[in-house]
Amino acid sequence: MAKEKACLNCRAIHSEAKCPKCGESPASDSFKGRVYIFDHENSEVAYHMKIKENGEFAIKAK
Ligand SMILES: [Zn+2]
Repeated sequence: MAKEKACLNCRAIHSEAKCPKCGESPASDSFKGRVYIFDHENSEVAYHMKIKENGEFAIKAK
């Protein structure tokens, strides 16, 4: 199984060569925390993290 990593552009957690959400390839496996956004339009967490999609995201990735 491929290792999980977080996209450095949108912080989506994935294990692909490219981010399935934004298509960017830079990703880090040293991300911290994770949130699952079910309803980004009504989620305060998504608002503060500037997340515009549903899915699993790292709280911090670098
Ligand atoms: Zn991304």
